[in-house]
Amino acid sequence: MPAPAHDDLGARSVPPQGGVRRCDVLVVGAGAAGLLAALAARGAVGPDGAARTPAADAPSVVLLNNEARLGLKLLVSGGGRCNVTHARVDEHDYQTGAPHVLRGLLRAFPVASVRAFFERRGCPLYEEPPGKLFPVSDDARQVLGVLLAAVERAGALLLAPAEVVDLAPPLAGEDGPWRVALADGGAWRARRVVVATGGLSLPKTGSRGFGLEVLARLGHTIEPPLPALTPLLLSDEGPLRGLAGVTSPFVLTLAPRGAPPEQVAGARFRPLARAAGSLLVTHKGASGPAALDVSGPCARALARREEVALLADVWSLHQPDGPWASYLDLPRPPGACLAADEAPRPPTREAFLAAAAPLLEDRARGLGNALAERLPRSLVQALLRASGLDPARPIRQVDARGWGRVHVALTQADLRLVGVDGYQKAEVTAGGVVLQELERTTLESRRHPGLFCCGEVVDVTGRLGGFNFQWAWASGFAAGAGAAATLARG
Ligand SMILES: Cc1cc2nc3c(=O)[nH]c(=O)nc-3n(C[C@H](O)[C@H](O)[C@H](O)COP(=O)(O)OP(=O)(O)OC[C@H]3O[C@@H](n4cnc5c(N)ncnc54)[C@H](O)[C@@H]3O)c2cc1C
Repeated sequence: MPAPAHDDLGARSVPPQGGVRRCDVLVVGAGAAGLLAALAARGAVGPDGAARTPAADAPSVVLLNNEARLGLKLLVSGGGRCNVTHARVDEHDYQTGAPHVLRGLLRAFPVASVRAFFERRGCPLYEEPPGKLFPVSDDARQVLGVLLAAVERAGALLLAPAEVVDLAPPLAGEDGPWRVALADGGAWRARRVVVATGGLSLPKTGSRGFGLEVLARLGHTIEPPLPALTPLLLSDEGPLRGLAGVTSPFVLTLAPRGAPPEQVAGARFRPLARAAGSLLVTHKGASGPAALDVSGPCARALARREEVALLADVWSLHQPDGPWASYLDLPRPPGACLAADEAPRPPTREAFLAAAAPLLEDRARGLGNALAERLPRSLVQALLRASGLDPARPIRQVDARGWGRVHVALTQADLRLVGVDGYQKAEVTAGGVVLQELERTTLESRRHPGLFCCGEVVDVTGRLGGFNFQWAWASGFAAGAGAAATLARG
């Protein structure tokens, strides 16, 4: 085997070879999930994240990546800083069809293990509100460097470019290996295969949906993929038109179209999705954490042609005693949302009027000016105008019906959602192979023993803030360790 060549990012490549080669565990895709899976399959990382020396009889592990340059998505993540994980993670931070299974997997390789993994390998992490963890170096290259060095030290063979074009299970009735075909004509025979090929988002990083296709071909149920953590597209007729560039904290609620305001504000109302965080108005709609966090459920609802409305509450997070109060004076708003259980529901009309009362005492003042004491002026004016209210109208001239409109304008404005941006902009792909068809601790296929899945190819989608990498690490660990543990089965 020729000596691997290195470039400055630690990428290694081996010239393509013909013929059939063999290994115990073959990992397809060297992203976050695949790298962790390779380490776990070699026994080079424990469930506590600590480094271990692989045993002399540890499985032979090969990692194949279609792109010559490795870790492209890792390198662009977190704006080049890589938001490695989040201080507090549980199954409620994700969209998936099997939250109970997800809970067990997240606990088996928790945040503490991820912290230990990086920190004990010379990459300390720090916390940024509200809980995002980044390398102290603020450099995603360091994160990738740690992973590649660990893989090399573990003795796993990483080959790139090596594009897998087909996976075939052992022939019926045979206890033989999986057959893996490469684009360059090469082939591998592997006793276990781990699919870690990611989704469809940012295709230039190498994730172009191969895993989803091959798993569907192998008979797995695939929750249809959709772009998620992506900007929202809003109608030009919506209330935010003309406000491009404005940033403000919002609570966004995805609700059935036509749900009455008092119902949406009620304690028993269960929204289709809710996100509470900063939002940036764009020329096409909205971006920023709050917009990105609801984009997955929005995409799903629109794809299913459900009658939904995206409602904006610009009021709740501006309250001095509200859950966002500690962030209001930061020079830059937090780059992630509050957890689902911290996101406030829109206030009832009575609660809104009671909280607004101190602003409205001077009844000769214009409505817009008074509310602009607490909210961005341009936003207040646009929202009032969009609901037919003149911001210059003196407070004393606003009647009961008018207050009803002010309440809805500021706490449940219909943003006129028309779509979400595509895979070129999406940070993740929602959907994927359903978790229910994988073993709950090893992520082994229930349809094809010997086949394992991890990372974004699985139907688990995190919110913004490090949750998607946490899933990649935890699922990569489960699949890699599972693949190695099942080798004893023959
Ligand atoms: C711009 C951006 C910023 C992000 N920032 C963050 C962040 O800060 N924090 C966070 O938690 N998440 C972030 N994410 C999401 C996160 O990067 C992904 O969820 C995570 O990388 C998924 O890991 P994965 O290993 O499953 O897939 P990927 O990282 O997509 O890796 C899949 C790998 O498989 C390879 N591959 C694909 N097909 C084949 C094939 N046929 N043969 C061989 N190899 C193949 C690809 O080249 C790739 O290397 C961000 C995403 C984007 C796009």
